[in-house]
This record gives sequence, structure tokens and C-alpha cells, in this order.
Amino acid sequence: MRAVFLDRDGVISENRSDHVKSWEEFHFLPGALDALARLHQAGFPLFIVTNQAIVNRGIIATQALEDMHARMLWHIVQHGGFIDDIHYCPHDYSENCHCRKPRPGMITALAAKWNIDLSQSYIIGDAWTDIAAGHAANCRTIMVRTGRGEEHIRLPESRHYPADHTAADLPDAANWIMQLEGIIPDHHIVHSLALRPVSATWQATLPAGG
Ligand SMILES: [Zn+2]
Repeated sequence: MRAVFLDRDGVISENRSDHVKSWEEFHFLPGALDALARLHQAGFPLFIVTNQAIVNRGIIATQALEDMHARMLWHIVQHGGFIDDIHYCPHDYSENCHCRKPRPGMITALAAKWNIDLSQSYIIGDAWTDIAAGHAANCRTIMVRTGRGEEHIRLPESRHYPADHTAADLPDAANWIMQLEGIIPDHHIVHSLALRPVSATWQATLPAGG
């Protein structure tokens, strides 16, 4: 089965230079909830893979991070989406673990747990480390310009680990995936309108009896 792996900060939620340390600091990016709902409703298992070294640096407690994720999931479900599993790496860079991106440990662990075919799967990230982890896991890779994306696209590492696609944001990335998968035809890709209810204005413009 194919899946979509997502980074959290800068893709689903706003990035903070001083880290997202509490629910009060967690803010969904525009269109993210809608995009997650469309990917979920299209049948993709969705997994979050996020580096959270602030856990082992003592900046956030494990319980507080997991509470934040529970609240995040509640909002995602309220909007018709779902996240099938979340893996976070609590380790600091110096711990040299196998899960911290750019290493693919979180992706490969989730793939083994959920029987995912990585060669048919996608990772969406805003950092070169997300794309490098996707390369190592043999996923299709999508760089978004939100979060640190605009900055990371220009880094030498991004030339070394080129993304298969660059998208404006998560809704744009979701559109690209669904187009590639044949889920929505090209001409329907206009600002995520495809699966939204048809508005009264739009209905009025449709030809009668069409
Ligand atoms: Zn780790």
C-alpha cells in the first residue's frame, strides 16, 4: 500500500525559530486541514515524521508533546481528515540515532509496521533533511515553500538531494499527488476546489441540462 509521510512544522503547522513548545504555539498553516482531509478521503494512510530534539534537550516533556499531537489530531478529525500514525525523534543530533532525519529510520519503521510500499509513497517536507530521508527510504519527494522551505530550497544540500517536485504548500502538494495518482483530472486543480461543495455561484454558471 502507498502512503504519504509528512513533516509537521513548516508543512502542517507554522514553524517557529524557538520551537513549538506548547499547544498555544501550534498553528495550522492555511489550507493544511483541508489538504489532509482530501488525502485521507482519497485513501492514503497519512504518517507524520518529525524531529523533536527539544524532548531530549529538556525543552518539552514527552507528555506535553503527545498531548499536543492528540489535540492536533482532534482538529484534523473534526475537518474530515486523519493521521494514521505519528513518529517523532526525541534525540539530539549528538546522539547519532537512526531516526533523526535526514536518516530514514522513522519512515522505514512506519513502513514495516503498516506494510507500506515506499517506492509508491511520498514524503512532503520543508527542509532538505526531509527530502534526504525520502531519498534514503526510496520515496517520491515533495518540497514545500512554506516553513523553512523557501530558505532550504537554496541550500547546497537541496542540490545534492533534489526533490521530485516543489509545491507552494501542502494543498498544492496534495494536488500534485492526486494528479499523479489519477485521482483528480488536471483541469480540476484550482486552489483545492476539487472536493469542496459546489457553490451556488458556480452552479449558476453551469450550462442547463449539462
Ligand atoms: Zn532519533
